[in-house]
Amino acid sequence: MTTVGFIGLGLMGKPLVTRLLAAQQRLAVFNRSPGAAEELGELGAVICQDSKDLAERSDIVITMLPDSPDVKNVILGRHGVSSGIRKGGIVIDCSTISPLVEKGIAEQLNALGIEMLDAPVSGGTTGAEAGTLTFMVGGGRDAYEKCLPLLKTMGKNIFYMGANGMGSFTKLCNQLAVALNLLGTCEALLLASKAGLDPQKTIEVLATGAASSWQLVNLGPKMLQRDFKPGFKLEHLRKDLRLITEACEELNLPTMGTGLMHELLKATANQGLGQKSTPALILTLEQLANHEVHIRK
Ligand code: NAD
Repeated sequence: MTTVGFIGLGLMGKPLVTRLLAAQQRLAVFNRSPGAAEELGELGAVICQDSKDLAERSDIVITMLPDSPDVKNVILGRHGVSSGIRKGGIVIDCSTISPLVEKGIAEQLNALGIEMLDAPVSGGTTGAEAGTLTFMVGGGRDAYEKCLPLLKTMGKNIFYMGANGMGSFTKLCNQLAVALNLLGTCEALLLASKAGLDPQKTIEVLATGAASSWQLVNLGPKMLQRDFKPGFKLEHLRKDLRLITEACEELNLPTMGTGLMHELLKATANQGLGQKSTPALILTLEQLANHEVHIRK
């Protein structure tokens, strides 16, 4: 049986490892802060002392980390995955990071005889728990085919998008649409509330027509209930918009909506809300409007 190593046991990593353990997958885990690993150790995962130790015990290594420097460091740095994994091993990075960084890491791993897939996900922590995530995969087709059963244990919709970096480019397209749907949801709720409509009923009505979106249906009610506990952190969406801006600069592509949302998220993070979930954006827009969206009794 193959052993899978999993690095990064945060909001997404922990439920994914829990799913893999429930499917009887043999697992080794490592996280920078040890608390999460200890909990998973009690469920049967082998706790490793660093990324190298984990890679030495694994056939496939999955990373689920915040940003490009984290992934680069964990895979290629001192005591990193590349110093422990055997030839023929596969690294799957599920983090949302720069497609160009993914490509660069893949080239360095390929030179050592190691395959790499970028396989970022969409569907949030609820999708990770329920096994309904979408995976967008870039890399060699053979490595993809080998990893497909493992990806199917963690997600529902698995798409092969092309060479290394193409999974991450797909995820950036996803995040661009997510960000602008989030802004649309906030502004529609503000208009509804200021005009004297019931915002909750307005969500229900819009959800039946052409304005519906995942953001509106899932996050609109959270804005009204003031439920901002982290599922997808605002700071991570801000990071994604930075990645989109960098990619579009490289491609000489104007992205006005991305620029606006990047600034709004920066302002919101400056209010100390970066670790809250993305619907907390409504608080900044409420300040600008001098009007609070609230549920009518
Ligand atoms: P998180 O901040 O909750 O978790 C990241 C984990 O990585 C933490 O446990 C941290 O201790 C660990 N870590 C950081 N650096 C490390 C290192 N050098 N070595 C070992 N462990 C290290 O983040 P998350 O919400 O799980 O998101 C992870 C990635 O997935 C991000 O790129 C994010 O954009 C993306 N993503 C998140 C969601 C979501 O809903 N939370 C959805 C889709 C994609």
